[in-house]
Amino acid sequence: SRLKEGLSKTSETFREKLSLITQGKTEIDEEFLEELEHILVGADVGVETTLSIVDAITERAKRESYRSAEELNRMLMEEIQQMLLDSGEHYPIDFDAPLSAKPYVILVVGVNGAGKTTSVAKLAYNYEKAGKKVIIAAADTFRAAAYEQLKIWADRAGVPLIGQGQGADPASVVYDAVSSAVSRNSDVVLVDTAGRLHNKSHLMEELAKIMRVAKKKIPEAPHEVLLVLDGTTGQNAVSQAREFTRFVNVTGLVLTKLDGTSKGGIVLSISRELNLPVKYIGVGEKIDDLQLFDRARFVEALLG
Ligand code: GDP
Repeated sequence: SRLKEGLSKTSETFREKLSLITQGKTEIDEEFLEELEHILVGADVGVETTLSIVDAITERAKRESYRSAEELNRMLMEEIQQMLLDSGEHYPIDFDAPLSAKPYVILVVGVNGAGKTTSVAKLAYNYEKAGKKVIIAAADTFRAAAYEQLKIWADRAGVPLIGQGQGADPASVVYDAVSSAVSRNSDVVLVDTAGRLHNKSHLMEELAKIMRVAKKKIPEAPHEVLLVLDGTTGQNAVSQAREFTRFVNVTGLVLTKLDGTSKGGIVLSISRELNLPVKYIGVGEKIDDLQLFDRARFVEALLG
């Protein structure tokens, strides 16, 4: 599947390492457990999850004996899969599920380069495909060429783009877009925001103003605030997320570029660390390379 392909770097690295440490072994010793711990931490599945996996395997090895390295390896995979499934809850909401408001306003935030613009386009594409009418607001008025880049993506997704050009007030762009969505009877407004301004407090003030102005038109807006994080940056993505959540009421995460990393395990640990759900994952550069995050499917693609 697409997901399996996208995760192949993580999956292959993980399998190879596991098979290396089980080679020629039929029992579990201290050294083995240390190596296992190292592999799991290296895949970014998180310290807590790693420790529970190691505990479970230690317990199970006390009760069972293994005739071959293959048997031992199979037991490891089973136990890891079970733990990863148990370590978090997720209720993926499909793109064709009814939305709680009309228009439903989704603010997309994150630092430059994380994959914000691409993710906005991918979301637009998915909502359109599910039969919803979408408008994109080009609220990154700071970066030169941001509008032009977004326009290319909006065209690919077949979705109208509202913008006012570089240097315009992003809050006013959002007000325009929401008004336009109301008059066109649109279902979803996707707001692409700036990832960098003169400084951090500027950026956070700008996001606050966007929200305030959106509320003038629709008091409950934004209905979602998605934080886009580059999945290849591991723990950096976690600290970046902490910065944003201090100022903005983030409701969910989008983890991008999982196809470009062997540490895709970050998806399984980050929601626990930040207490925020991973809603979508990016597994490629094309418009249809965004997937709803479903823990069971993810673990299956990784280990199954
Ligand atoms: P922004 O600055 O946050 O808006 O980031 P962009 O959307 O412009 O993306 C930055 C780069 O990351 C672009 O080259 C995208 O093609 C790439 N990118 C975004 N998402 C993914 C993904 O899921 N996989 C891969 N391989 N590349 C991605």
